[in-house]
Amino acid sequence: MKLQFLGTAGGRFATITQKRMTGGFRIDDIGGKNIHVDPGPGALVRTHQFGLNPRKINMLLVSHCHTDHYNDAEVLIEAMTQGMTKKAGHVIGSESVINGNGEIGPGISKYHQSKPTVTTLHPGDVVNDDKITIKGTDTHHGDPTCVGFNINYNGFNINYTADTEYFPELAKEHEGADVLIGCVIKEGERKIKGHMRTMDFEELVNEVQPKLAIMTHLGVNLIMNNPFQNTRIITKNTGVRTVAATDGLIMDLKQFM
Ligand SMILES: [Zn+2]
Repeated sequence: MKLQFLGTAGGRFATITQKRMTGGFRIDDIGGKNIHVDPGPGALVRTHQFGLNPRKINMLLVSHCHTDHYNDAEVLIEAMTQGMTKKAGHVIGSESVINGNGEIGPGISKYHQSKPTVTTLHPGDVVNDDKITIKGTDTHHGDPTCVGFNINYNGFNINYTADTEYFPELAKEHEGADVLIGCVIKEGERKIKGHMRTMDFEELVNEVQPKLAIMTHLGVNLIMNNPFQNTRIITKNTGVRTVAATDGLIMDLKQFM
């Protein structure tokens, strides 16, 4: 089971400037499937750049309808369905991504929803796909339908917070995570609505106590100020190995099973 980051930037300005890439991440060889999570701008290009095959995706998970998370979803669906010629793959997304919510979305057209299996996921919903179970986790974010993911295979839990600010019940949502991937946009004391700061992620990691914590979706200020010094502090304070993802980073998850 392999985790690979096709991008680690988050937020409008890190995305527009491409200070880091914005392709989301892949989990390959999980229960015989390959999963692409949050394909932001460039996801298709980065897939090829890092030697992966977009046609080999079986599941596409899209947490919400902000461009840094959903932008390349349609073109990856075209890859997954062999150019929309075959019924294939499973797309799981938030209400806003699949159906639209007020002014936002849908992020995937009806045409692109016609070939894969499509599931709208809300926090608390559980969907089974073969040997993999996906559970929606709650968020507090600008897109109110944004949903995080608990990806369970054979009792092994990979959790992804998606975009959310810290709230007291967040740890409960991610209880039992073996690997916890968090969207962390900045460091410092000043709060930013709808997003986690490094100090929030530290609190979450401390409460959840996963085997491995990874922060991604880094904003411009965090990228420029050396995210590694933050993860060193989080590791020291929580006792949990915490890393800041870098573009292209590959992790073999078998060691954490
Ligand atoms: Zn967002």
